[in-house]
Formats: sequence, structure tokens, C-alpha cells
Amino acid sequence: MSNLLERLRRRGWRMTAQRRVVAEVLDGEHIHLTADEVLARATARLPEISRATVYNTLGELVSLGEVIEVSGVGRAKRYDPNAHRDHQHLVCAGCGTVRDVHPEGDLLEGLPAAERFGFTVTGVEITYRGLCPVCGAEEAVESATE
Ligand SMILES: [Zn+2]
Ligand SMILES: [Zn+2]
Repeated sequence: MSNLLERLRRRGWRMTAQRRVVAEVLDGEHIHLTADEVLARATARLPEISRATVYNTLGELVSLGEVIEVSGVGRAKRYDPNAHRDHQHLVCAGCGTVRDVHPEGDLLEGLPAAERFGFTVTGVEITYRGLCPVCGAEEAVESATE
């Protein structure tokens, strides 16, 4: 559970109605929303919310380390509240569903010294791609009828 609201409350984050709605939209499991998606969902809950407030709040949550920016999942950057547990992403090429996954072993160790080019390597981001069960089943039906 990401518990974003709970974490923000604990650290005494200033919670106005508008800022609260942004945090609510992002709270939950396997949440990876673009800024536009956050804006659309926040507007559905609180029609008077401004685009500037949504974007500023996103920026603030990222700089606090409570939300991470994810790239490589789609064309636009995604906002992910699962900021405190290292994880990678599994993405469906059909519908775009994104799952947080936890590969086994030390991924940093997986890069041999010869492949490091003298870098001090501090992080790794992996995107696994494939088809979710729903899209996989549709593909199977289509290829059967061809
Ligand atoms: Zn899918
Ligand atoms: Zn994630």
C-alpha cells in the first residue's frame, strides 16, 4: 500500500482542499498517472481546481520524495506514489496497464565492471514489456480466427 495521504499527514504537509485532491488521486496501488490524467481526475472531484495548483502540487510531492517520476512507461512522464520501496515496472503493450514488480537479486550487481565504463553506478530502472492476461487472451482469439 502506498499510503500517500497517511505519509503526508504524518509529515505535516499543508493540506488544502485542492492539494488534498491531488494526493487522493495519486494514492493507491500500481498508480502511474500522467500529469494530464491527474488533472482530469482531480477536476472530476473538485471542478474548481486549477491546472497550476495540480502541476505545482505534483512538483512539490516529487521534491519531497513522496512521489517519483517514471519515464519509459509511455510517452509522457508518470507520477508514482510508491516512492519508498525500490521497484521496476511491467507494462502491457496492448492496454498500457502498469504493474509495480520486484525482481529478485541485486540488479546493480548484474552490470559487470567491464560494462560500467568507470562509472559509479547508483541506480537502475528496468521496464519489462509484454501483454497482460486480458490482452494476451484477445491476441490468442485473434490469431485463432485468422
Ligand atoms: Zn493489456
Ligand atoms: Zn511504480
